[in-house]
Amino acid sequence: MRTGAEGTLPGRREIVRRAYAVLDLTYVNDGWEQHLHPAVLFGGEDVALIDCGYPGSLALLEAELARRGIRPERITRLLLTHQDDDHMGAAAELKARYPGIQVMASREEAPYISGALKNLRLQQAERMQERLPAEQKAFGIQFCERLRKVPPVPLDGLVSGGDIFDWGGGCEIVATPGHTPGHISVRALDGAFVVTGDAAVTAPRTVIDFYTRRRYNK
Ligand SMILES: [Zn+2]
Repeated sequence: MRTGAEGTLPGRREIVRRAYAVLDLTYVNDGWEQHLHPAVLFGGEDVALIDCGYPGSLALLEAELARRGIRPERITRLLLTHQDDDHMGAAAELKARYPGIQVMASREEAPYISGALKNLRLQQAERMQERLPAEQKAFGIQFCERLRKVPPVPLDGLVSGGDIFDWGGGCEIVATPGHTPGHISVRALDGAFVVTGDAAVTAPRTVIDFYTRRRYNK
């Protein structure tokens, strides 16, 4: 997603304002750097944050929002694309710090995010644990432990494919199941951006379907 997009909203005098911003959360573990990119979509009444990073990311999120000139108190919605911990992990701490934020996800993902059902990635990791070679078992146990500690968060609202919001200058929820059963993406109605979560990742001149590993040329 490109940053710094400008959108126009009608007013007594035309107000030019940002339609969206892309955050950059940087994590460094054992010398390995990972970047996550939650998006902020500005609407008429709402400021919607799409995904929020790993558990423990609250300070990182606040710093990154401040760097972009966005006060966290302005965020009214947190839309989670899916149940993985790098996308929803910080939702509970964000909600605890800013209780006015309405947490939203698809109906299919909701029970895994709220903790009513066991996270699918954890179920998968537990099944794989039995088949892991001996030298990888310690890592497998550690990975399962990490997923068990992800704080669940209750949902305040559900979204479905086809739902329209005025966020980001107008956008549509697109059902993109595959990576997880209820994964959603968010598409700007004017085509200015698509927030794909983990439904697809981009590489130079290519879009990669993260689930099937199929590559599409742009
Ligand atoms: Zn994922």
